[in-house]
Amino acid sequence: MTFSNLVDTFRQLIHRFPDKRTGRNTIYSIEDVVLGAFSVLTTQSPSFLAHQTAMAENKGKSNAQTLFGIQAIPSDNHIRDLLDAVPPQQVFPMFEWVFNALNELGQLQVFRAVEDQLLIALDGTQYHSSNCIHCKNCSVKTHKNGRTSYLHTVITPVIVAPGHNRALPLEPEFIVPQDGHHKQDCETAAAKRWICKYSARYRALNVTLLGDDLYSRQPLCEQVIAAGLNFIFVCKPQSHPTLYDWLDQLEKAQVVQTLRIESRHGKRREIDNYRFVNQLPIRDGDDALEINWCELTTTDSDGKVVYQNTFISNHRISADNVVGIVQAGRTRWKVENENNNTLKTKGYHLTHNFGHGKEHLSALLASLNLLAFLFHTILDMMDTKYQLIRAKLSSRKMFFQHIQALTCYHCFDSFDALLDFMILNRPGFSGDILV
Ligand SMILES: [Zn+2]
Repeated sequence: MTFSNLVDTFRQLIHRFPDKRTGRNTIYSIEDVVLGAFSVLTTQSPSFLAHQTAMAENKGKSNAQTLFGIQAIPSDNHIRDLLDAVPPQQVFPMFEWVFNALNELGQLQVFRAVEDQLLIALDGTQYHSSNCIHCKNCSVKTHKNGRTSYLHTVITPVIVAPGHNRALPLEPEFIVPQDGHHKQDCETAAAKRWICKYSARYRALNVTLLGDDLYSRQPLCEQVIAAGLNFIFVCKPQSHPTLYDWLDQLEKAQVVQTLRIESRHGKRREIDNYRFVNQLPIRDGDDALEINWCELTTTDSDGKVVYQNTFISNHRISADNVVGIVQAGRTRWKVENENNNTLKTKGYHLTHNFGHGKEHLSALLASLNLLAFLFHTILDMMDTKYQLIRAKLSSRKMFFQHIQALTCYHCFDSFDALLDFMILNRPGFSGDILV
């Protein structure tokens, strides 16, 4: 899968978008408009289209055309106007195409974790908050002082694996006011919708969902199991009093199993103490779901606790798999660190207001941003030239700065030609890879 491959496939998918425009509005094709926005997010260069318009006027060609296949470069205002009517779900088939292609190529195998599971971490992240800018799909929060905030939040599911430094984003689920519901939408309701929509695709692939304490409630756990998926969710004592009462009783009866593993990290010695027990009620009541529980407490040589967390799962827990179950549960932080924080603070400007619109623009741009992150992740997995460049320009911000500057001055025949140029011309890069 090359960058050109991905962009060509995306262009074909955009071609199927509904386009209700007539007359003068149709100067720009819907493909050019969507790819125009996507090019800004892929290069993380707000002025990309303005520079490419100037380059096209001077040189008769531009990187908008050679890298993204854009025939007529739309202005930022055209993009904002035309894309506001496009629901974000229109771009979701591209996430599915990439997932299927990676699966067919065997690229998902490296993500397999405990019990041969593919781990999908779910986490909500807020990407817009304003006291004045809002649209009909904003969530509304009224503060005690009467002030009103307008928010956009999205669940960003990602495939993660312990010891794997990449996170593969899947179709997001937006937390938006739902038709026929008076209550504000919330993260668990959005998670349930995501499971409904996509479980059929993942059921046969041995998938375990990861989530924080918000997810470890009976209705959601039941839905995960009914959908043919598995779960490992954080389970805090404060939110599960019945479960922890049972645990105290079982502890007194000495039936909670334990495992102790000592390890050295240089001069530092650490002790991992695992406790686990199967078939505990998740809550009070006769209809309580039985789940399996485990805990890891890590102490240093002085007995000081340096890590502690507890998880529940539908996977039966034993001394053979408890380390893997906890490792998988802990991988959930990757969705925060390697996905959401990257998107917000390390180059993707997810929270920056590229444009809000009155209907879909904000969510569509957030989806295109996630897709840009996915494209870069694919290149990082499969393109040796891209890997070489990212190894030298390890911060995404620096990588984007170089792309912005280069595409501002020179028209490259393709994305591959841009990578070749970077490898051949930057001191410290070896051109051997091009031979
Ligand atoms: Zn809004």
